[in-house]
Amino acid sequence: MNSNNASSHDFIRDIIDEDTKKNKYEGRVHTRFPPEPNGFLHIGHAKSICLNFGIAEEYNGLCNLRFDDTNPVKEGNQYVRSIIEDVKWLGFDWENRLFYGSDYFNQMYEYAVKLVKSGKAYVDDQTVEEISKGRGTLLKSGINSPYRDRSVEENFDLLLKMKAGEFDDGEKVLRVKIDMSHPNMNMRDPVMYRILHTPHHRTGDKWCIYPMYDWAHGLEDSIEGITHSICTLEFENHRPLYDWFLKELDIYKPQQIEFARLNLTYTIMSKRMLLDLVQEKHVSGWDDPRMPTIRGMRRRGYSPTAIRNFCKRIGVAKVNSNIPIEFLEHYIRDDLNKTAPRFMGVLRPLKIVIENFQEGKTDEMDVVNNPEDLDAGTRKVPFSKIIYIEQDDFMENPLKKFYRLAPGREVRLSNAYLITCNEVIKENEKVTELICTIDPATRGGNVPNNRRVKSTLHWVSAIHALDAEVHLYDKLFTVENPTSQKEGDFKNYLNPDSLKILKSCKVEPAIHNLKAFDRFQFLRKGYFCIDPDTTDENLIINQTVGLRDTWSRILNRGK
Ligand code: ATP
Ligand code: MG
Repeated sequence: MNSNNASSHDFIRDIIDEDTKKNKYEGRVHTRFPPEPNGFLHIGHAKSICLNFGIAEEYNGLCNLRFDDTNPVKEGNQYVRSIIEDVKWLGFDWENRLFYGSDYFNQMYEYAVKLVKSGKAYVDDQTVEEISKGRGTLLKSGINSPYRDRSVEENFDLLLKMKAGEFDDGEKVLRVKIDMSHPNMNMRDPVMYRILHTPHHRTGDKWCIYPMYDWAHGLEDSIEGITHSICTLEFENHRPLYDWFLKELDIYKPQQIEFARLNLTYTIMSKRMLLDLVQEKHVSGWDDPRMPTIRGMRRRGYSPTAIRNFCKRIGVAKVNSNIPIEFLEHYIRDDLNKTAPRFMGVLRPLKIVIENFQEGKTDEMDVVNNPEDLDAGTRKVPFSKIIYIEQDDFMENPLKKFYRLAPGREVRLSNAYLITCNEVIKENEKVTELICTIDPATRGGNVPNNRRVKSTLHWVSAIHALDAEVHLYDKLFTVENPTSQKEGDFKNYLNPDSLKILKSCKVEPAIHNLKAFDRFQFLRKGYFCIDPDTTDENLIINQTVGLRDTWSRILNRGK
């Protein structure tokens, strides 16, 4: 992890500096973010988005959004739409440079014809299994396909027929002719085209042969004039193949640079596994607030700023690592502390009747919305004869270090009055109600004659309160690395307590003015936001994160 300050340089920027200094690519910097539209974006993608768009911005360059849509079987429009929305929401702008790999199908086909005509590609009749077996292993050379020496004319004729739909799925493929004993397995005559009689979300029925990722990806970057093609480490040993294609075709060559993928503790970062969680209903959908997807995080209350700051600070590296999830949480607290208005909400209510407060009267308190941002102004918070506090802010027989409310003890109600508990009402041994008095001279938190109170509680007025359903979240998994456990599937490590629903919470009336996704702090409780499933009858509030920042304690240790 890069722990230097945010503007610190990394190896990718070093390469770009060197290239621009040497006037490689005429000093241009042009990157791209190339998602495959086969799932929703997650925080790992956010890292790549921030990196590519961020670099373009820093170097006065450009960044394209390009859908790598070469596999019609798994891809679809709903994913395209959601990715567009998510990249925008993160705050990035591709201007008029929204592209699709499928826009280049003609061009790619022309390139393939060129390779066929120069004897560098051939049509293979073997099955997928035969091809896979023939590739050999890391220790054993592959063997040449019996169809490898077809003539140029025969290959071209067969390719035309493949394209014209004369063969069934899987009957034939087009392969590049490189070297079946190459030490890099990716160079052992990889497949360029396969037959799929499947309509494509953009090209419809026009094509029944589709390019393989390794054939298409480098071409897409070349066609768009990308200068620095930034990708994750697993593509490092595909680079020789991409470069081979570009050299044979004698076309523009971008510089590919690989960096380590983002992994976070206590979650997973693979679209396939995330889809599994959705399909098996372990979560409510791609936007479940426990998911590491952009949509999930947005619904949980994460802000684009927090995600961008996090991505900037983790930096880029050449070695895979696992970033603590607390580090991400630190960035959301950091942002919300500055920007989120404060409200009061009681999650587990305990009723208090104030004996010396007039029935039916409302006392409106002036309360600062955000002490970190005085421009955020003040609001009126109603106080009345019956209020709620948290159940755990009262103990009938207080333990030694419990400073909150107890019989005979005086504490402060935030921005209201000092209050003393006179009587505890119980039903079946359970405390159901407290009878208290307030000191009218302490209105607004004023403490006369230096009386000492050891704690300040949040509260809401019963008749003014809104009922709310609050969703509390915990880690999605019980172990740091759910995918690398010795035993069992990653789903065996799902945290059964990752969602707790509290039904009869009481929150202050100002919450009514908020709309879906609005973020705020509940005093002493943490950061929250309004869930988009909220209706007039059912107010749903998601907890983003609690107030306690373990990461900043780690950072401050030893200081
Ligand atoms: P997944 O493994 O989740 O299926 P993917 O790599 O198949 O992801 P793509 O749609 O191909 O998903 O990813 C688009 C871009 O995002 C690629 O350039 C990829 O390198 C990058 N990316 C994907 N996952 C991560 C990650 N965890 N960290 C950093 N970059 C990532
Ligand atoms: Mg990919």
